[in-house]
Amino acid sequence: MSNLSEHEREVDWYRLSISDTAEKLDVDLDRGLDAGESARRIEQYGPNELVEQRGRTAWMILLDQFKETMVIVLIIAGIISLVLGEEIDAIAIFVIVLLNALLGFRQEYKAEEAMAALKKMAVPKVTVRRNNQVKEISASNLVPGDLVLLEAGNLVPADCRLIETINLQAQEAALTGESEPISKDARYVAEEDLPLGDRLNMVYMGTVVTYGRGKAVVVSTGMETELGAIAELMQSSTAEPTPLQKRLTQLGKGLAMAAFVLVAIVFLLGWLRGEDLEVLFLTAISIAVAAVPEGLPAVVTIALALGARRMLKKEALIRKLPAVEALGSVTVICSDKTGTLTENRMTVTILDFANNRIDLTEDELNIPVRAMSTACFDAEPDPDQVRMLSRNPALTLLLAGGALCNDAILQCPEDQPDEYQIVGDPTEGALLLSAARLGLVKDELQSIFPRVDEVPFDSERKRMTTIHKMPGTVVDLPEAYQHVWDWQGWSEGVEFVEFTKGAIDGLVQIADQVWVNEQIEPMSDAWEQRIYQANQSLAENGMRVLGVACRSLDYQEDDQDRSELEKNLIFVGMVGMIDPARPEVKDAVQTSKDAGIRPIMITGDHPLTARFIAKELGIYTKPAVGDGVLTGQELDTLSREELNSSVRTTSVFARVSPEHKLRIVEALQNQGEIAAMTGDGINDAPALKRADIGVAMGVTGTDVSKEASDMILLDDNFATIVAAVREGRVIYDNIRKFIQYTLSSNTGEIWVMLVAPFLGMPLPLLPLQILWINLVTDGLPGLALGVEKPESNTMSRDPYPPNENIFSRGLGINILWVGFLMAVISLGIGYVSWSNGNSAWQTMVFTTLTLSEMGYVMAIRSMKDSLFSIGFLSNRALVGSVLLTTLLQMAVVYVPFLQKLFKTEALTAQELITCFVLSLVVFVAVEIQKWILRKRA
Ligand code: ATP
Repeated sequence: MSNLSEHEREVDWYRLSISDTAEKLDVDLDRGLDAGESARRIEQYGPNELVEQRGRTAWMILLDQFKETMVIVLIIAGIISLVLGEEIDAIAIFVIVLLNALLGFRQEYKAEEAMAALKKMAVPKVTVRRNNQVKEISASNLVPGDLVLLEAGNLVPADCRLIETINLQAQEAALTGESEPISKDARYVAEEDLPLGDRLNMVYMGTVVTYGRGKAVVVSTGMETELGAIAELMQSSTAEPTPLQKRLTQLGKGLAMAAFVLVAIVFLLGWLRGEDLEVLFLTAISIAVAAVPEGLPAVVTIALALGARRMLKKEALIRKLPAVEALGSVTVICSDKTGTLTENRMTVTILDFANNRIDLTEDELNIPVRAMSTACFDAEPDPDQVRMLSRNPALTLLLAGGALCNDAILQCPEDQPDEYQIVGDPTEGALLLSAARLGLVKDELQSIFPRVDEVPFDSERKRMTTIHKMPGTVVDLPEAYQHVWDWQGWSEGVEFVEFTKGAIDGLVQIADQVWVNEQIEPMSDAWEQRIYQANQSLAENGMRVLGVACRSLDYQEDDQDRSELEKNLIFVGMVGMIDPARPEVKDAVQTSKDAGIRPIMITGDHPLTARFIAKELGIYTKPAVGDGVLTGQELDTLSREELNSSVRTTSVFARVSPEHKLRIVEALQNQGEIAAMTGDGINDAPALKRADIGVAMGVTGTDVSKEASDMILLDDNFATIVAAVREGRVIYDNIRKFIQYTLSSNTGEIWVMLVAPFLGMPLPLLPLQILWINLVTDGLPGLALGVEKPESNTMSRDPYPPNENIFSRGLGINILWVGFLMAVISLGIGYVSWSNGNSAWQTMVFTTLTLSEMGYVMAIRSMKDSLFSIGFLSNRALVGSVLLTTLLQMAVVYVPFLQKLFKTEALTAQELITCFVLSLVVFVAVEIQKWILRKRA
């Protein structure tokens, strides 16, 4: 049982020593909480979540439905009918208002739910130690007493007392307003009350680790945190309107204006012809309603939100709704290499040291990872392994250095004690594994040569350094480790040693000696050349190469001059590791190229490694001038203009740092490109924000990069970006189809209403009939268009420019002519039958118009392919809604009660057949238009 009580949770943790903190929280700081205790605490304290002020409650959403301009117009229409004594009309209008509101509510509620689900998915993961095992858990499962491991790029997941800090810095602007990072120190204990910004031994939820590493114990979670106290919200998956939604709102307003003018005209004409004022009133209002597609904004919102849900099924988590739409317009995808294009399954295959090269893939050296038992790595190393090390002191040091200067963890999973598992960076994991394979296990190394200091890896320096304390002079070490201790390169009586590992080019610059033939030699030009050549030959084969260097060090434990580190090193050797390209990426690259999207690789790796993989995947194309590969160093020498022009032909950027990414994305945008860019590191955030679509990595990405992104790849896979682009295009196409559909029908109604008076006919469509068409015939099949399958050319056409007018590509023209055709046919049949004195003429106009729309919606399921080639039944929802709508129309014509309501008359079989046949004209006309378009293409 924990001895935490509610009262004690108001403790000033920053005034307690580490051991007092541990005691109060009842946790063993080496093992962490055990499973039972963490489960009990989550019961007690609840999930580590900020209670969110809900976006909108269901009631608010419902109420909002009645605030739409058009609904208000309808309500006024209803009231006017009531005043004029037309109770049936009034009731019908109110029923329709209600139905419309319920439909809109259902859609918007669904959309909100979809967005809330996405938000939930975006909760960060944290690395904790529980039950003496390192694991990743969802931040919401943290409880007081949990041990968390923090590193640069993490969002601090709860309020924590630090218990170990290694150059740890945190940016606490979210709480203190101070934007400069603060250096933290676990050893610090405050004597008096301090403001939050001065509590150096604490980190707080919602702040960001910007540098270094640390271990901390959670002291409060959820609403009990400082952030909870000010109830500010994190993880904003914003529901800002997308550009398309904004344009549609504008369109709605434009249409309302147009409707107003039309109403005035119809009213005037009717009045001049001496029509009944009462009928004119209702008709005028109905025209206004007819002209405006009420369902449009709701349909677009739901299409986007449900689209985001579909993308999630394909492992793309949308954080900002506008991304769904922008994805369809992407023209370049800038992708990291490691993990996105490749599997990030690093395997060391080459060890190269002092004129020697060992190929670990060759059979005789294929030694298994040092035998493991339930106690994990407790077996003695294999005698072959030890013999190999004793023959090659440089090899020992290369492997030991790679394993010591390393933050990954090699552990046995709880449930499979005979297996091993790597936690941390795969590059480092590969080094641990290759060392373990030859008998050197990191945990053991580390306990003999404990780490006392470090300079963490960053993608600018492309290297990392650790300082280790040597064991005392009298040591009795297992043989493998003995070789590290008595390596001849160490100076006499050495107390501390420094290991640096990283990219060869940089490492050679800071190494002035080299270990060769069992002695130290100065780094001559010849040696430099030999190293560069070896590096190059490995990189040319697509390998990631890391070098290891070391030296004895006069280390000052409390005030080491850090500028004295990473200098005068002894170069020991290098390891080459392979990281296979992801098999599905090659096809995805081809798909994106077919879709007019240029893939670009941006990597911190060596240009030759990068080019090898880029070639293999089809990303690399050799331009007419230059070789299509640009390094960060070369990029630094280019002016803005030069970079603008060279991004046009460069397909691989290598050895770049995150700042370069920002320049690259800006240069691409200057060229009019719409850029998606991936990133995982803390320094990638500005480039991700700047890109049109910032894409973060779900698995390897830092929380900071995720916060800056529009979309998160849950599987880190390039192919997922391409799948999301495809989905974005489909959604946009379907929204366009819906717009075409509703607006054509509105145009048809308006033509009918406007032309009839000129033919001397009475008003051909009654108010209620227009409402019926707008609500039922537009609404039901329109929604089903939202789930229409992709067009056959979705990924073989060029992207549409993002600011392209929604009515371009013939949409506007189609709306006008199809609307006109519908009007001609329905009014034509009405005119003939009216001239013959048939009292059912209005019912015929009404029915033909409705049925024409049914044919039309089937015809525009594809913008270019015929209905027969996409398959009549391939959108069952649509077929169902067309059948239902037709049945409902029959009910309106034949059921006596509805006849009274809608002022319809039963049609004879012959009349009905005529309506059906004539309504096919629109379907046939649109199919012929598509046929002509296909022929022309
Ligand atoms: P990509 O863009 O392909 O995903 P990256 O930009 O993440 O790759 P980095 O991880 O920055 O590339 O690595 C760049 C170089 O830094 C590598 O080629 C390697 O030489 C070196 N390097 C990578 N990881 C480490 C590490 N953990 N310690 C030391 N050096 C490293």
